[in-house]
Amino acid sequence: MKPTGRGRGVSRGRGRGRAVPFAHHYEAQGLLQRGGAVSGGTLEPRLPRRAAVETGGGLDFAAVVGGATVGAHIDAFEEYNLLVGESDGGAALPQREFDSLKRKAHKVLESGRIFVTWRNLSMGMDCVNVGPHSRCFCGHSYKAHAWWENKSKKPRCRCKGCACPSFSYLPGRGAQHARCSCKHLPEDHRSARGLPAKCSKCACKCFAPAARCACGAPYGDHATIVETVHDRRAAGRSTEPLWDERSETHAVAGGLTSFASLAPGVDRAALHPSLALPRPTASRRPTARRRRAGRAGAAGAARSRAVAGGPRPGLRGLH
Ligand SMILES: [Zn+2]
Ligand SMILES: [Zn+2]
Ligand SMILES: [Zn+2]
Ligand SMILES: [Zn+2]
Ligand SMILES: [Zn+2]
Repeated sequence: MKPTGRGRGVSRGRGRGRAVPFAHHYEAQGLLQRGGAVSGGTLEPRLPRRAAVETGGGLDFAAVVGGATVGAHIDAFEEYNLLVGESDGGAALPQREFDSLKRKAHKVLESGRIFVTWRNLSMGMDCVNVGPHSRCFCGHSYKAHAWWENKSKKPRCRCKGCACPSFSYLPGRGAQHARCSCKHLPEDHRSARGLPAKCSKCACKCFAPAARCACGAPYGDHATIVETVHDRRAAGRSTEPLWDERSETHAVAGGLTSFASLAPGVDRAALHPSLALPRPTASRRPTARRRRAGRAGAAGAARSRAVAGGPRPGLRGLH
C-alpha cells in the first residue's frame, strides 16, 4: 500500500504541545492494514467506517478520524513504536508512562544523545551505524534498549526477562543474522544475560561468524561502540543532526545521522571519508602543519581540508 502524499505534511508539522494520544496508533495500524481495501468501500471495523478516508485508492492523510488526522495517527504510531519498541511485551504502556518516556527523549536530545556504531577497531571505521531497528545479540532491537543512557553509555535492554547489560550489535541483513562458523545461530550462542557465549549445540567455544564484514575484515575485528556527541566531536567524527531535529524519536537514532548512514562504512567512506572515519588530525590543525612544512605543507593542508570539511555533493540535499 502506498500512502498518498496528500495531507502528510499536516501532521508532520504539528507542534510539540499538540501531541496525539498514542493510543491512536492502534487505530492507525488498523487503517494501514486495511489500506488496500479502502478504495473498495468494504471496510469493516471501527474507525474506517466512521471516517471517510476513501480517496481514490489511497489514504487521505488529512482526513479527521477520532479527533485527529490520519497522518497524525500514523505519526503517533511511529513515535510510540520507535520510543518503546517491543519492550512493552505487546501490551501498550499506560499513557502516563509513555508521556514520561517522551520527556526523557526530549531531555536526552537537549543533553546530547548517544551514538552507537559497530566499528572496525584497527581501521577506526564505523562499518555499521546502529539504528532503532538494529538487532542486539540479546535478540531485541536497539529501540527496546535504554537509548537515554548518555551518562553510563550502557543502553541496557528494557524487555521483560532480558538481562542484557548493554546493546551489542548482531551483524546481519534484514531478518537474516550471521551464523557462527560452527553453523549454529546466534541464539545458540546466547548466555543467560544475552551475551555471546559458548555454543549450546556443539563444542564451539565462541560466536565467530565465518562471513566477513563489507570492509573485508572478520567480524571479530569489530566492536559495538557507544559514544556521546562530545566523544564524537573530540574524535573528529560526524555528529550531524538528522533532517528534522524537533522529533523526540531522534533520541533513539543510535548512530544514524543522515540517509547515507544506512550504507556500509566502506561505501560511505568512498563517498566521503568523514561519513565513516574520524577527521585526520592534521586537517584540524592546518596552521601548525603549514608552519612545519612551508609551502608544500600548505598545499597538503588545503587538500586535507577539502577532504575533511568540504561540501558533500549529492548528500547535503537529502538532509
Ligand atoms: Zn541487548
Ligand atoms: Zn534484550
Ligand atoms: Zn559457534
Ligand atoms: Zn555450535
Ligand atoms: Zn567492517
